Amino acid sequence: MSDPATHTPQTTDLAADLASDEVHELSQLSSSALSQRYQQSLLGVFGTPQRVLVRGAGCHVWDADGKQYLDLLGGIAVNTLGHANPLLTSVITSQLATLGHVSNFFTSPSQIALAEKLLEISGAPAGSKVFFANSGTEANEAALKLTRRNTGTPEAPRTKVIALEQAFHGRTLGALSLTHKEKYRAPFAPLPENVTWIPAGDIEALRAAVDQSVAAVFIEPIQGEAGVKMLSARYLQAAREITREAGALLVFDEVQTGMGRTGSFFASTPVIPDVMTLAKGLGGGFPIGAMIVFGEENCARLTPGDHGTTFGGNPMACAAGLAVIHTIESQNLLEAVKTNGTWLREQLSGIPGVSQVRGAGLLTAFELAEANAPKLVSVALDAGFIINATDENTIRLAPPLVITQEQLETFLTALPQLIANA
Ligand SMILES: *Cc1c(COP(=O)(O)O)cnc(C)c1O
Repeated sequence: MSDPATHTPQTTDLAADLASDEVHELSQLSSSALSQRYQQSLLGVFGTPQRVLVRGAGCHVWDADGKQYLDLLGGIAVNTLGHANPLLTSVITSQLATLGHVSNFFTSPSQIALAEKLLEISGAPAGSKVFFANSGTEANEAALKLTRRNTGTPEAPRTKVIALEQAFHGRTLGALSLTHKEKYRAPFAPLPENVTWIPAGDIEALRAAVDQSVAAVFIEPIQGEAGVKMLSARYLQAAREITREAGALLVFDEVQTGMGRTGSFFASTPVIPDVMTLAKGLGGGFPIGAMIVFGEENCARLTPGDHGTTFGGNPMACAAGLAVIHTIESQNLLEAVKTNGTWLREQLSGIPGVSQVRGAGLLTAFELAEANAPKLVSVALDAGFIINATDENTIRLAPPLVITQEQLETFLTALPQLIANA
């Protein structure tokens, strides 16, 4: 076998020869040469990429210089099945070879099958339905449009949306209105939604904020981008009761927490919201977003012509979603995620310099007593580990759901020295 960084599976060799001389040529360049080309051609919204990655397999990826990394971030909670999962690869490629895209003037068996499967695993009552989009922010845009139809009456219009402090719901204008961070929102004001943020986890604050003027309440069951801030089951249940009493719609944004990440399919189970949004882990790396709308009355809020998308629900994305759910079920991954996540947090708690370990399943964060988190990210990268800093003190881990304790152990063993060097 050739060097892992340059080895490409046989099936793509032909494609590389025929269709992608440019990519082939670029893959011969060094990492630093590629970074320079990146900076000349890609819009500077992401800063400098940490590395140029050329290949992945399981929980590992390789960069353009042939260096191997253990991926403890999973493309930000996306690569549920790791990299180059054989089933996911074959399902997507065979779907593409059979039927890759149809417009939403048509449907396909994989679209219907994934919708039915999502309704089944979310415990949705009869009359519930699914809308497919292509990303998390798009799923939330759909949810915002749906909740706008909760208009109230002309005398008592519902004009407000409630979101939580530190919330992150996406970057398009509607979803951005819900995102709490002033730094993300302020440069793009005015934004379309009339949003009030309340302290996360405070039931009394929620009760006080949700009245007849509120159309919807958006909640991430665990605030991922905020640094894995946990909300209690009691809070989610209270949110259900408070919104129902006030006639406001409850939206759970499970874009990051859904699809087995926390050791159950959805972090909010057993609470049933009016709307749930999904994306990140659903396609295992293939772009897809989804909005599950619970109950007939809510589904009736959007009717033909009210919303749409060209790519949403395309056969490949839906086939990918089915392969992800099938694998989670057939390999009993929810149990493994629970066991390995609990074990990981126990081990982390014993490491000097690590404090406040929190999370559920394989969504974990820990705080650093002294070291600087962005520095630790770069020290860890040099040592072959991909991790993420959500702020100056906090490290987030969201590895593939298929990661083993042995793989996690290599990181835990290295961590004390990495912290000392950070
Ligand atoms: C990542 C994320 C989004 C945005 O998803 P994109 O696919 O990046 O648009 C929305 N909500 C939550 C909770 C997220 O973690």
